[in-house]
Amino acid sequence: MAQADIALIGLAVMGQNLILNMNDHGFVVCAYNRTVSKVHDFLRNEAKSTKVIGAESLEDMVSKLKSPRRVILLVKAGQAVDDFIDKLVPLLQPGDIIIDGGNSEYRDTTRRCQSLKAKGLLFVGSGVSGGEEGARHGPSLMPGGHKEAWPHIKDIFQSIAAKVGTGESCCDWVGDEGAGHFVKMVHNGIEYGDMQLICEAYHLMKDVLGMDHDEMAQVFDRWNKTELDSFLIEITANILKYRDTDGTHLLPKIRDSAGQKGTGKWTAISALEYGIPVTLIGEAVFARCLSSLKDERVLASKSLKGPQGAKFTGDKDQFLEDIRKALYASKIISYAQGFMLLRQAAKEFGWSLNYGAIALMWRGGCIIRSVFLGKIKEAFDRDSELQNLLLDGFFTNAVQDCQASWRRVVSTGVELGIPMPSFTTALSFYDGYRHAMLPANLLQAQRDYFGAHTYELLSNPGHFIHTNWTGHG
Ligand code: NAP
Repeated sequence: MAQADIALIGLAVMGQNLILNMNDHGFVVCAYNRTVSKVHDFLRNEAKSTKVIGAESLEDMVSKLKSPRRVILLVKAGQAVDDFIDKLVPLLQPGDIIIDGGNSEYRDTTRRCQSLKAKGLLFVGSGVSGGEEGARHGPSLMPGGHKEAWPHIKDIFQSIAAKVGTGESCCDWVGDEGAGHFVKMVHNGIEYGDMQLICEAYHLMKDVLGMDHDEMAQVFDRWNKTELDSFLIEITANILKYRDTDGTHLLPKIRDSAGQKGTGKWTAISALEYGIPVTLIGEAVFARCLSSLKDERVLASKSLKGPQGAKFTGDKDQFLEDIRKALYASKIISYAQGFMLLRQAAKEFGWSLNYGAIALMWRGGCIIRSVFLGKIKEAFDRDSELQNLLLDGFFTNAVQDCQASWRRVVSTGVELGIPMPSFTTALSFYDGYRHAMLPANLLQAQRDYFGAHTYELLSNPGHFIHTNWTGHG
């Protein structure tokens, strides 16, 4: 008998938690998994005493769904998604909806939208952020694809998503085709940037100011009551405090070689592809790559010397405040760059993105959740066509207020030989963006000199000319 509001395929950590979340909100969910024994285990354990029902096969699952049938996939991104779609298509009716909640590449989502449209089915690719905890108690959800599906899934999605402020849901319709997964990808890239910025602040506190872990934890706790109030600052304080079973701090014992799953890299690749200077996320990805060359770095550390005998001689409290402001200003740059990439993608693909709504979707539930995102939402509420976050009065003033500190941190770090790829690239971007004239006139002349690539005169834009620079012929 058709009794379930929605089915979810994929009973790993994300799927199980999302099912329990939907159950909490009164929806009847039918659970299915490739390895069917996991359905039985789930019903016996985690889903015991809930309204969740199970299915023995895809046919069984589909027969238990109300119409239009709604099926969420939370399986490993890639081939597994295509395999399930192929199996579902013959079992579904026109107007039924398949939702992919995994970390799929946005172009795969666009391809799936196109192919399922031809079969009369609706497809939604939804970013889901917040990990296990978010899935269970309120994730950030970023759905995109066939908009006709939205009225049929809106209630479920907005009910289970995180809530902020006066109960606003961190979920709204993002846009056509792969827009939801593109926005999720940029979210993950920004997450890379935020994490790297915090790591650079930690490095400066540890190696320039010589602070111990408890002291650093107190600083991050304090910062969490300022504009930097965010999940990542909060967990950083907790990590710094954490003591191992032997009573000593755990953090310094962790191998300094960062892993990555690829979504930061995808953001950087998209930035290069669409010609948008998303420099901070790019540096954050490269910083992870450099960290992973641990053995090479250990070898290099024996022969490559930094500044000899250089020591910090300034005021510690002042420098701590400088670091806080450098972090805040760099973070503003990172988000400005992320939204530049979203704007360009919208232009490339003809998506109509609501940037304020995107900021709200990230405001709660996800890893980059922060008070700061509320300020971004307000900026887009003031001007939905805002060309760049840096041009909003609030952010223009915020960066201006941080500027002297930011420059002191970068110059001190450089003098003392501390790597700060994200702080420095953010400042370079800021200086580049605020210059009406850059040295690209020389670059254009060079290109024309060796390759006859032509150039425009400032006095005659749009008109390309070539000069014979050697004066011959
Ligand atoms: P996962 O480890 O990525 O995937 C496990 C699930 O995929 C299981 O249900 C597994 O079925 C199924 N699966 C794997 N290969 C398959 C194949 N070839 N054919 C059919 N099914 C296959 O699970 P997860 O960590 O819960 O993540 C689910 C999705 O959410 C992924 O796309 C992930 O990137 C995304 N995501 C994860 C997180 C997180 O914090 N973990 C956060 C956001 C988004 P069996 O049990 O039969 O092996």
